[in-house]
Amino acid sequence: MLTSVIVLLAACSSKQKETQPENQSSEFKYLVDEFADLKVMRYQIPDWDKLSLQQKEYLYYLGEAAKCGRDILWDQNFKYNLLVRKTLENILNTYSGDTSTNEYKQFVVYAKRVFFSNGIHHHYAEDKLIPEFPATYFQELLAKSNKEGFPLKEGQTIEAFGSFVQDIISNPQTYKMRKSNDETQDILLASSTNFYDGVSKKEAEDFYNKMLDPKDETPLSYGLNSRLVKKDGKLTEEVYKIGGRYSQAIEKVVYWLEKANKVAENDNQKKYTQLLMDYYKTGDLKTWDDYNIAWVQDTESTIDFVNGFIESYGDPLGIKATWEAVVNFKDMEATKKTNIISQNAKWFEENSPVDPRFKKKEVKGVSAKAIIATTLGGDCFPAPPIGINLPNANWIRKDYGSKSVTITNLMDAYDKAAEESPKSVSKEFTFSDEEYELGKEYGSITSVLTTDLHECLGHGSGQLLPGVNPNALMENSSSLEEARADLFALYYCADPKMVELGLLPSMEAAKAEYNGYIRNGLQIQFVRIELGKDVNQAHMQARKLISTWAYENGKGDNVIEKKVKDGKTYFVVNDHEKLRELFGLLLAEIQRIKSEGDYAAGKKLIDDYAVKIDPELHKEVRERYQALNLKPYGGFINPEIVPVEENGKLIDYKLEYPSDFLQQHLKYGKEYNFLKAEE
Ligand SMILES: [Zn+2]
Repeated sequence: MLTSVIVLLAACSSKQKETQPENQSSEFKYLVDEFADLKVMRYQIPDWDKLSLQQKEYLYYLGEAAKCGRDILWDQNFKYNLLVRKTLENILNTYSGDTSTNEYKQFVVYAKRVFFSNGIHHHYAEDKLIPEFPATYFQELLAKSNKEGFPLKEGQTIEAFGSFVQDIISNPQTYKMRKSNDETQDILLASSTNFYDGVSKKEAEDFYNKMLDPKDETPLSYGLNSRLVKKDGKLTEEVYKIGGRYSQAIEKVVYWLEKANKVAENDNQKKYTQLLMDYYKTGDLKTWDDYNIAWVQDTESTIDFVNGFIESYGDPLGIKATWEAVVNFKDMEATKKTNIISQNAKWFEENSPVDPRFKKKEVKGVSAKAIIATTLGGDCFPAPPIGINLPNANWIRKDYGSKSVTITNLMDAYDKAAEESPKSVSKEFTFSDEEYELGKEYGSITSVLTTDLHECLGHGSGQLLPGVNPNALMENSSSLEEARADLFALYYCADPKMVELGLLPSMEAAKAEYNGYIRNGLQIQFVRIELGKDVNQAHMQARKLISTWAYENGKGDNVIEKKVKDGKTYFVVNDHEKLRELFGLLLAEIQRIKSEGDYAAGKKLIDDYAVKIDPELHKEVRERYQALNLKPYGGFINPEIVPVEENGKLIDYKLEYPSDFLQQHLKYGKEYNFLKAEE
């Protein structure tokens, strides 16, 4: 599971400035590009020079493996994404016409948006990105570019090709949504994702429900690594593996993993990396589980990585996983805090406000650490999570624990980039100066803490009752799971135990977190959603559900008050203790829903609280935000790890921090181009 950025643009405390890495010159610019609703940042890799040559080499190979699966994600997102990307790349690389015109600039913005989203649909809102340049201009772009570079079908004319691509990118009626939530339609058939082909929701559910044995306590993650297609009326899985679907890209991933494994830090790493490669060769989900079990038990290594088909947020049914990769090493200083949390995991589980029947009897191996990312790939690039908790299989988490990380250099980059922007979202939506100052003083401390609690404890807490189908909550499972982890974090963030453990300076800090969460859940996060649209994304639904539920259910005691000043709406927390009680109640209920597999109750919570935005409030929030002229979504450019040779001998790996978003994607398009475009 992933955590995305919780507060859009948190105020940065002075404490963080003091802990800036030494190698960071004051010249380093974090925010390097802004277009449409996006901003592009760079992230630093502090402590690189404290690593040994072997560790750097290991990170370099793992980084190459992380970049080799890029094409896979593009194809998973939509069957024509690679076709469109290769078309855009060829125009950007060879167009001989005038590049100073307004139309060409609009074309470049469109191309950058597509690169940012790994496809033609918005990475967050899921809807098709419609180019601003006129349709006739597209033909001109094609005519003045190198014809051989376009992925034409055999015998296809450039004109026919042009019309075909143009319809894909600019017809608002076709391939409307990547992942559709429209319940008036079949959500699989209405989605443009490429996890299924010609398969209805019912057919897919029947296909996978048949595989599940309710008595099996260690079920495989059925369907995780395949595309389900209907051929001659029969359903078959096309497995992602060497010799199967995406073979050419997976072969390269394995090639670099093999090189990496020769310079791994220890035998444990070698063992699970070998299992991962075996899994890529066979597609065998049992091997995938074996890999995860071995991987989750390695808490000693400095260097670590995620590489595989892991998160199922992109699948309307939450079964199939997108390809992703994050390469990283341990942030020693920050890890001390997360260790305190995981060492007390048992206490947290025992004292949670959840029915004892749904609690884990034994809390095992909850490991947590802060990490420094060195390369992002697949679904973690360019818009990465700031926290990761894996593996996802419930029974592995229960029997072997889970590994949980927060990515400190990315969180730091978000904060620094926000500082480079003159306007503040939190200020705009905060009712009083006093509340704003509180947020400024404690906001970044508590957001790191709640991210840790969410990842280290939240997702790992609780258990299913025996025989409960882990997929019982179906399309609502991701949102309810994120809500559960958020509530766990919120509940404990304001526990006196936090001060006792030295994780919070005072209980005042927890107030800052509650204020910020409510502001975000009831207002700020809506800036990311177009007027008239619903909340779709799992983390956002979770925040909306929690905040709205607490607001509605606390009305009697005026726990959260809606105030209007100068025509602007604010939500002010009046009673933080009562709010904590409400969080505890909702946590208990969502845990019950998960543990019992109560689909109907879960669906009702989502429908009642998580999806619909009050249209007037939505309009107001968007207008206030637009007046600030900031970008709601952030993503990154990867640093380059470059081998340094002297007299033909490798002596070091140095870091370069490129600042051109488009150039990095064009470079990747040349160097990591392994899959053919769908015809
Ligand atoms: Zn989560």
